[in-house]
Amino acid sequence: MNTFDITIVGGGHAGIEAAQIASQFGLNVSIITMPGIGLGSAPCNPSVGGVGKGQVVRELDALGGVMGILADKAGIQFRVLNDSKGFAVQSSRVQIDKDLYSVEAEKLISNIPNITVVREKVLEIKPAADCFEVLTTERSYRTKKIIMTVGTFLNGKLHTGTSQVSGGRVGCEPSNGLTTLFSEIKTRPYRFKTGTPPRLDKNSIDYSKLEEQPSDPAVRNFHCLHEPFHRFSRQVSCYLAKTNPNTMEIIRANKEKSPMFNGQIKGVGARYCPSIEDKAYRYPDKNIHHVFIEPEGLELDTMYPSGISSSLPKEVQQDYVRSMEGLENAEIKVYGYAVEYDVIDTTDLKLTLEHVQIPNLYFAGQVNGTSGYEEAAGQGFIAGSNAALSLLGLDPLILSRHESYIGVMIEDLTSNTRDEPYRLFTARSENRLFIREDNTVIRMYPYRAQLLLNTPLDSYQRKFIESYQDLLEFCDETMIPETSPLMKEFEGDGELQQLTRRMSVTEILRQAWLNPVSALERLVGYHGLSIQSDLGRTVAISKKYDPYIKRSESQYEKLKKMDGMRIDWESIFASTNISFECRQRVGRIKPETFGQLKLIEGIRPATLAVVAAKAL
Ligand SMILES: Cc1cc2nc3c(=O)[nH]c(=O)nc-3n(C[C@H](O)[C@H](O)[C@H](O)COP(=O)(O)OP(=O)(O)OC[C@H]3O[C@@H](n4cnc5c(N)ncnc54)[C@H](O)[C@@H]3O)c2cc1C
Repeated sequence: MNTFDITIVGGGHAGIEAAQIASQFGLNVSIITMPGIGLGSAPCNPSVGGVGKGQVVRELDALGGVMGILADKAGIQFRVLNDSKGFAVQSSRVQIDKDLYSVEAEKLISNIPNITVVREKVLEIKPAADCFEVLTTERSYRTKKIIMTVGTFLNGKLHTGTSQVSGGRVGCEPSNGLTTLFSEIKTRPYRFKTGTPPRLDKNSIDYSKLEEQPSDPAVRNFHCLHEPFHRFSRQVSCYLAKTNPNTMEIIRANKEKSPMFNGQIKGVGARYCPSIEDKAYRYPDKNIHHVFIEPEGLELDTMYPSGISSSLPKEVQQDYVRSMEGLENAEIKVYGYAVEYDVIDTTDLKLTLEHVQIPNLYFAGQVNGTSGYEEAAGQGFIAGSNAALSLLGLDPLILSRHESYIGVMIEDLTSNTRDEPYRLFTARSENRLFIREDNTVIRMYPYRAQLLLNTPLDSYQRKFIESYQDLLEFCDETMIPETSPLMKEFEGDGELQQLTRRMSVTEILRQAWLNPVSALERLVGYHGLSIQSDLGRTVAISKKYDPYIKRSESQYEKLKKMDGMRIDWESIFASTNISFECRQRVGRIKPETFGQLKLIEGIRPATLAVVAAKAL
């Protein structure tokens, strides 16, 4: 009973993805996680998806992950972000009922017979013959593979004003740090920090002064086997509040009380997820910031004010919250805080997320220095699949950065030492016209097929791919004569003269003034065909972007050719023409190719130019 094939330490977003996919291979899997915290719990923003992250949730869904299923079931407000921009950067975002999300995660995992959930704290991990020994507060376990998904808990320290308490998150004890957990094996810890805002009593807010944002019924569910527009839970609104000069003045006047700015916190926070202190002190001229007031759950009486995470003393948090319109009488139920924790140096990991020096040990999620549920879940899936594939002697699952955001993230993490928490956003991808939400099945299908699993998801994908090919052919081969009465139907869309010649459906979809999705629906309907709406959307948007994607692919191919070029890192390290900082980074990472060199954080274009000129 105490012996497992794969043990996952931590039952957060990374842990449940890792366990679920590993269990699909029939292996004996355990999740060992601290008591008192539900599986898949959300200690911060109760939402899933968003810019660059909605894409990850759909990638996970197409690969066979669970985040999309859980988000649909717990979704209480659905939106598409960037809907006024191009399709490539549009992302779905779902506000979740955080309790319901965790209840659904518990249900899903407990229904998988070959996953054992152990609610104990892990104290130490020791290498033993052909396995690891995992010592918990209660007993010891043996396991062939370990996946560490311990979030913000390693040596966690919480800060609110001058108060400093050990803990992984509010109300939770910390875990031993990396060097204590692995006293017999060496791992390199860094310190990062993240923060969370105060939670407000939902009955103390004057919603009439805030802008309401209702749920959008036209947003598709994440899970491809769910009815696209079915809602599992009652839908509620989010609200928009704003800071003002008084709010920011209160924060600026208390700078010396901020643990992040008075030297109390040493860990580095995410540049792209700034606290309200960051905003106040770094941008002294900007006083108006959006604050989204979001429900934490249908039955919970707290609202999450997104955008004002803080570690300022309680009385300062109270003052700045109440300075905002609509929040004049707001009561704080839980104060904001920052948490500092150990993370691993991810250049010690392979693309499978296995440790380079310690075979059979994998790391995924926030412990890898990322921030966000989706990033954690994406890594959990990759670590879980690879641990299982490796035990079965099958090829590893490595997603290309050219085809997925998960691939972008893992390559970025493993090729660079991170000096701040890593978040995904669309600009991280060189190929974002292709790696969109709408075509995830097309992009992920070959990877899912590689897992050799045969579930309803696989049947759905096979059918989808077949119909996709048929519809592409229809678009290329069907000509619409200029005399067609259908042309008249487009009149409302824009300039009618653009349709005065005979065109293929593909050409019509590329007309700049026309919405390709609704146009394809009409063109297909006119020909008496019926297609599922997600398929039509994928084809229409793919056709629209094809020429641009081809152009960016040819640029990418040229770059890729350079990427494979071997370089001599030692001569770069010794070169006097290259800055000290770049040489230091090269000396640490020891890149073997131009591509690896290019990906190193902080490598300047001038360095690349010197290296390229030498090599050519
Ligand atoms: C205060 C705070 C603020 C945050 N702010 C943001 C934000 O603004 N934006 C954002 O996107 N994300 C934020 N996050 C991060 C978000 O919570 C994580 O990205 C996400 O939960 C990471 O998932 P994970 O699976 O890696 O770890 P977690 O969800 O943290 O799960 C870790 C699990 O490991 C278990 N565990 C830890 N140590 C042990 C041990 N020794 N033995 C057994 N079990 C153990 C814990 O019980 C927990 O269940 C914040 C987190 C916190 C705590």
